[in-house]
Amino acid sequence: MSNRTIAVNDALYDYIIEQSLREPSVLQELRMATAELGDIKRMQIAPEQGQFMAMLVRLTGASRLLEVGTFTGYSTLACALALPEHGAITACDISEAWTRLGQHYWQKAGVHNKIHLRLGPAAETLEALLAEGQANRFDMMFIDADKGGYDTYYELGLQLVRPGGLILIDNVLWGGDVVDANSPDKDTQAIQRLNAKLANDPRITLSLLPIGDGLTLARRNDNP
Ligand code: CA
Repeated sequence: MSNRTIAVNDALYDYIIEQSLREPSVLQELRMATAELGDIKRMQIAPEQGQFMAMLVRLTGASRLLEVGTFTGYSTLACALALPEHGAITACDISEAWTRLGQHYWQKAGVHNKIHLRLGPAAETLEALLAEGQANRFDMMFIDADKGGYDTYYELGLQLVRPGGLILIDNVLWGGDVVDANSPDKDTQAIQRLNAKLANDPRITLSLLPIGDGLTLARRNDNP
């Protein structure tokens, strides 16, 4: 016993999955279909993270979601299944091919009407949403795209998410590479910079969870 987060070895991870993962079959099918894409499947979130995000949607009563980096739409579908009937997700990605795979399963799950896909560079889409008067309109945002763009997505997200709303940021531990202060890798450096910025950002309430590849929860404060 210790007052720090437990180290999760393979056996313990398997136990967690066996004892707590409740993955709907349509999500499992989407995960299997994505696995056939090969190495790139790593861009998909872990199923227990999808379940956690769906929990957050239900806990917070979120109905308007914003996603940056949809890929094949696993997180999108996990959250859509947790949304109320009137809920909606604006899903941003640059790939027509990846999101087409997701759309097949969104339709199969009967939630495609809740998901509004916006193809194109996410920074442009987020700026467009602001121009459309969508500031302070989103309850929750999930950032899981190109790491070099993370800070831009976060700053625009703070305008698009309402006070009290939640921004989730994926891959904040980056396979453990974030502890290498001398990493020459640009993606690692971008994540390190954002993590360091958020650590002292008075605009948010912060929690960094070692789930999946590291997930930051940043709640937009009411009076920053
Ligand atoms: Ca990710």
